[in-house]
Amino acid sequence: MAIKITRPQGTEDITPKNIYKWHTVERLARETAETFGFQEMRIPTFEQTDLFLRSVGETTDVVQKEMYTVKACETEFTLRPEGTAGTIRSMIQNGLLNDALPQKAYYILSCFRHERPQAGRLREFHQFGVEMAGSAGPESDADIIVLAKAILDRVGLKNIVLHLNSIGCPSCRKDYHEALIAYFTPHRETLCETCQTRLEKNPMRLLDCKSPICSEIAKDAPLITDYLCTDCQTHFTKLQEYLKIMNIDFMVDPKIVRGLDYYTKTVFEFISSDIGAQATVCAGGRYDGLIAELGGKPMPAMGFALGLERLVMTMENQDCEFEKPKPCDLFLAPMEPDAIILTMQLASALRKIGYKVEYDLMHRSLKAQMKYANKIGATFVMVIGENELQTKQANLKNMETGEEIPMQLDKNFIEKFDDLAIQYMFQDVVDDMEKELK
Ligand code: ATP
Ligand code: MG
Repeated sequence: MAIKITRPQGTEDITPKNIYKWHTVERLARETAETFGFQEMRIPTFEQTDLFLRSVGETTDVVQKEMYTVKACETEFTLRPEGTAGTIRSMIQNGLLNDALPQKAYYILSCFRHERPQAGRLREFHQFGVEMAGSAGPESDADIIVLAKAILDRVGLKNIVLHLNSIGCPSCRKDYHEALIAYFTPHRETLCETCQTRLEKNPMRLLDCKSPICSEIAKDAPLITDYLCTDCQTHFTKLQEYLKIMNIDFMVDPKIVRGLDYYTKTVFEFISSDIGAQATVCAGGRYDGLIAELGGKPMPAMGFALGLERLVMTMENQDCEFEKPKPCDLFLAPMEPDAIILTMQLASALRKIGYKVEYDLMHRSLKAQMKYANKIGATFVMVIGENELQTKQANLKNMETGEEIPMQLDKNFIEKFDDLAIQYMFQDVVDDMEKELK
């Protein structure tokens, strides 16, 4: 017996049954980002491993534990664990940063991280992300956060809280790092192995460790907000003012440090109170040093990424609305070999003007064809048999009301069908209007 092959752990299939949910969030996210002047960008699925070492950071969980690195023909590549590094690499490589600033790009892409799979935590997952390069002021931080919130509002998400923090710049982080090292050193033996090696190199990473022991110790660690330099503090205060003016609720959460090394100043997460452990739906921040680090001319930037699986999952939990695909407009049932040609011609002409038309391809009985038409939710069904071919007339059956509309099978058919279908589509609107006029 052949062995059944199943999908790898931590990956998901999105079948036609569920794809409409993804289409809904992708469309709403795209449209919203475009109203803010962002344009789509597409980048490769894999990059040179070095790109992620230099951007995400060598002491992060992502680089130390989660990367899918493959060797092909003596060269090593890594499947992107996130979208920012590749997008910035591409902006530099394509000279976009020499163009009008700020550069604003959005993307929808899959990411790969070797994590322990659980609900909302996959090995291949999808992100909708945006990056804005060139602007340094807190009003761009506000613009980015307002955009993230606009998308979450547009898809109808509720009970979502914006956690906001500033993790300063390299200059204010110097003292903070020392304070962290002093705080964690007495606990060194208790820390997880990874954190022991991170302690001197990158003590802020200890604040983000998922091990229960490390996070317990980290609870009382010094807070970055007490160490911000004047410039970072002013930036943070101004951003909060802007968010208040824009009616964006937030809570300052000094515990948010983010799992990637490239962040500076502003970091934020939108956290849902509805989805258990994997509650961060959207996360982002400013990364003023990254472009220079990747060989571009020094330039500030910032962005966010929205985890699409977590977004869809939260929307499902909250009964948010997803736009259902339009059902089949017309199912044609050719009842005899001669009828198939006319069926194909009618279907083709209607499809050209945008109607969803299907016809029997399974050589089924009339009863079975009607069952299929019902199953696909066809609005109209038309049977074409010997009689219909002879009289050049057939009945268009409205599947909802059962009404049978006689139709001439001549050159006016398409126009007449178009009229009927439009009438049908607007029936609800017409009914409402009539009710109001009464
Ligand atoms: P977490 O703390 O949950 O591991 P992270 O800090 O690693 O998240 P980011 O790198 O900031 O996550 O990614 C941005 C968003 O992508 C997250 O907020 C989340 O919605 C989503 N995301 C990250 N990792 C996964 C994953 N393994 N599976 C599904 N979604 C994920
Ligand atoms: Mg993670």
